[in-house]
This record gives sequence, C-alpha cells and structure tokens, in this order.
Amino acid sequence: MSPFDFLADVVGPQNCLRAPEDIAAYATDWRRSVGVAPVAVLRPSTTAEVAEAVRRCTQQGLAIVPAGGRTGLAGGAVAIPASGQAVVLSLERMNRIRNVDARDFSLVAEAGCVVQTVQEAAREVDRLFPINWGAQGSAMIGGMLSTNAGGIRTLRYGNARELVLGLEVVLPDGRILDDLRRVRKDNSGYALRHLFVGAEGTLGVITAAALRVVPPLRKVETAFLAVPSPDAALQLLGRMLGCGAEVTGFELIQWVCLDTIARRGPHMRIPLPIEHPWYVMVELAAGHESVPVRQMMEATLFEASDAGEVLDAVLAENEAQRAAFWRIREDYPEFARMDGPSINTDTAVPVSAVPEFIARAEKALGDRWPEGQMVAIGHAGDGNIHLSLRAPQGTTREDWVARAGEADMVVNEIAVSLGGSFSAEHGIGVSKLHVMAALKDPLAVEVMRSIKRTLDPRGLMNPGKVLPAN
Ligand SMILES: Cc1cc2nc3c(=O)[nH]c(=O)nc-3n(C[C@H](O)[C@H](O)[C@H](O)COP(=O)(O)OP(=O)(O)OC[C@H]3O[C@@H](n4cnc5c(N)ncnc54)[C@H](O)[C@@H]3O)c2cc1C
Repeated sequence: MSPFDFLADVVGPQNCLRAPEDIAAYATDWRRSVGVAPVAVLRPSTTAEVAEAVRRCTQQGLAIVPAGGRTGLAGGAVAIPASGQAVVLSLERMNRIRNVDARDFSLVAEAGCVVQTVQEAAREVDRLFPINWGAQGSAMIGGMLSTNAGGIRTLRYGNARELVLGLEVVLPDGRILDDLRRVRKDNSGYALRHLFVGAEGTLGVITAAALRVVPPLRKVETAFLAVPSPDAALQLLGRMLGCGAEVTGFELIQWVCLDTIARRGPHMRIPLPIEHPWYVMVELAAGHESVPVRQMMEATLFEASDAGEVLDAVLAENEAQRAAFWRIREDYPEFARMDGPSINTDTAVPVSAVPEFIARAEKALGDRWPEGQMVAIGHAGDGNIHLSLRAPQGTTREDWVARAGEADMVVNEIAVSLGGSFSAEHGIGVSKLHVMAALKDPLAVEVMRSIKRTLDPRGLMNPGKVLPAN
C-alpha cells in the first residue's frame, strides 16, 4: 500500500487528489505565490477525517499545509521547498454552519465556511458577523482566523481574534483539542484559542470556531470625501469618532489608487473628480432606526469643511450607491495587480503616527527609488496603511524585485521606529520571514519557537512558515 492509498482511505479516493491538473491550483494562491506541487491534496469533510489524515501524514513524515480560500497575501497556504514532501490539507469541504444562536450572539462555523456565507447565516437571524474585506467571497473561516484577518471594520469590532469565543483544533499529532465553547468569560488557564489565531497553520489545523456575532446596523451612512492630507484625515477621524454615531469604517485612499481604478476599470464610477491628493471613505452607523446618522454625518462634515479638513464630499444616496463606493476600496487590489509590479507592505502604526509614517516613507522611498511611485491605501482608522512602491511602466516583476526589493524593509523599519508593526493583518507566511528575522524581538521569536517545538516536535505542520530558520 502506498502512503497515498493510506490517505485516500481516510477521505475517499475522489478527495485525495494526485493528478498534476487537479493539484495545480493548490500549488499557488491569489498573489501567485510560487509554491511547489504537493504530493497530494486532501479534502476531508469531518473533524475525524482531518484528525486521521493528520495522524497518518505524521506517521509517514509528510508535511501538512492547511489551506482555506488561498487568498492569503503572505504565501502561507502553499507548499514550499522547505516543506519537504508535503500534503495540502484543504478545508473546503468542512463548510457547515453547525449552530447559530441569536440569543447567545454566537455562531459555530466549520473552518471551510466562506466568510460571506457566515455573514449571511448571521443576517438570517438578524445578527451581524462584522468582519469584512475584499476577499470575503473566497476567504474561509479557518484562513481568516489563522491570519487573524482585519479588514475595513477593525476600528469598530477588532480583528478576527476579537470575534473568537472558542476553537476546535486538530493538533499536529492528530489529537482533537475541543475548546469550542461559547461563553464570554473563561479564565480557566491559558486562552489556548489565541495560540492558534494568527498561527498561520503552524501549530495545528483549525476545524471549527465559535464566533461572536453582534446586533445588526440598522442605519448606515457612507461618504466619499476629498481631504488635503493624511493629517487632515486624522483630524477628521477624531471628529467622526466623537459625533455620536459608530464609526464602522475609515479608509484613506491616495489619488493614485483612484487613477488606477479609473484607467483599469472603466465600468467603475469614482464619486469625486480625481483632483485632490487624498480621499477618505467613512462609514457611520447605528443599531437603531431612530438615530439620526445622516444628520450626524452632515453636521460633522460641515464642521470639518469649515476647519479645512474636507475639500469635497459625496454621500451615498441608497444601498446600491453605498455598495458601489465600497467596491472602489475592495476591488482596488485587483486593479493594482493589473498595473504592473510593486513592492507591497502591510504595516500598522499608532493612529496618531499615520501622517508622519506616510511622510517619512514617501521621503525615504523617493530618495532611494525616484523612478518608483509610492502608493498608499489603508485602514487609517486603525493605523493599518498599505504602502507600495510601484515600478515604472514596462518593468518586469523580477527586475523590480531585484532593484527595489528592499523597499519593504525601508517601510517596515519606519513603522517599527514609530512603535508599529511590520505585519498588521496579512501575517508572515513566507513572504515576511526576512522581516521577522530582522525586526522581531529575538526573545519573542525564541518563545514562539519553543511553543512550536512543544506542539509540533517533528516540525511537520506548515514548515518553513512564520518562524525564520535558526
Ligand atoms: C483582494 C484581497 C483583499 C484582501 N484584503 C484583506 C484585508 O483587508 N484584511 C485582511 O486581513 N486580509 C485581507 N486579505 C488577505 C486574505 O483574504 C486574508 O488573509 C484571509 O484571512 C485568508 O483566508 P483564506 O481562507 O484565503 O486563507 P488561506 O490563504 O488559504 O491561508 C492563509 C494561512 O492560513 C492557514 N490556514 C488556512 N486555513 C487553515 C485552517 N483551517 N487551520 C489552520 N491554518 C489554516 C494557511 O496555511 C495559511 O498559512 C485580502 C486578500 C485579497 C486577495
């Protein structure tokens, strides 16, 4: 019996993929990470199957690479040469919502549930699963938790970690850690669930999660604004946070992004002329119909305009327009990808430091790579700005990486010097191992290594990810 028959036996032959044409898609991801082909792709449909598959892989010395929607931006869901012989364990068939409890404000979903499906399940019982971002139609709950995803509502509801009540995890030796509780308060020892959130599949396979849902937003107003500078945007944020309604989104968008969308997506309508340096999308909301959110938005914008913080503004008039505004923000990464190679970053700084961060990065990048163009877009409301250095027209990716590959380090160092992080919401995967090695506190890395050794002594769970080589 070959090792693969041994595995096919667990999930059924049709869910143990071995043909090159069947596994090709699993050797790459949204950002086209160059992975190596796994020796097999397993698609279990129950926790017991995951556990047995993990046990058998471990027995055979096969590395295990958990995969969800493969929208991750750090290359974590693909096998790499350092994995050795690896199996991709796709959670896509573990896609049941096990329980929705409106009274408990909780929901239990399996790891392969698409995030949008979970949002819909919450909506059916008049609840909101508040996390959202551009890839929510493909990203899965297991991936969302393993990367501790953020998105556009982090400033109001926190990132994925803050929405987790409990987890079910298959450990690297195949045992099932059933910590799928739904209680809000549980101080019975270490909060193990938080070990697996953000671990990018290096400590075990998340098979299900108990998630927090919140009351729905009954009144929502979205505005698309032109602002003179990131500093003005910051002033505006303070004003919005004090206006009486909830601020559920605050995105800073540099004009270059809108220009890219206008050129690459002629079907997209940009609500304001592209003649200002910076734009902001702000969303105010309330949980009750009686809250005059529109008036609050308008009054705040009048004040901000008088203070010179807002240069132009348009408010969405209906749900379709609101959705169209958000599409501009959410679809931007797709359009940016069409616009040629760029060096991308995912930094966070304290919100108050956002203007200084952008100014220092612009100067440092401009001094060193005057031929490149800095592009900034991000969740300014929580300090998470995505800065990129875009290549001049006609440059190949290889050339740009060779010439300007260090741009990410330049930006990351500035973020860290301002008390920030070099990985705000995308994780480390493989793409940020060099940054982890250079900028993370060595003691923190050592503690992480000892946790990894304890849970995964043979180092078979997503090897080569998150922790830089010794
Ligand atoms: C257009 C676009 C926009 C995006 N915008 C945002 C954004 O605003 N905010 C944000 O945070 N992210 C964003 N992302 C990144 C991405 O969508 C998130 O990182 C998402 O959480 C990944 O989920 P996934 O199911 O695709 O995970 P995958 O890419 O499949 O996997 C990601 C990591 O998690 C591990 N993993 C997956 N499933 C499991 C599991 N069940 N158990 C253990 N480990 C597992 C994988 O091994 C890998 O290391 C964006 C991506 C795209 C393409």
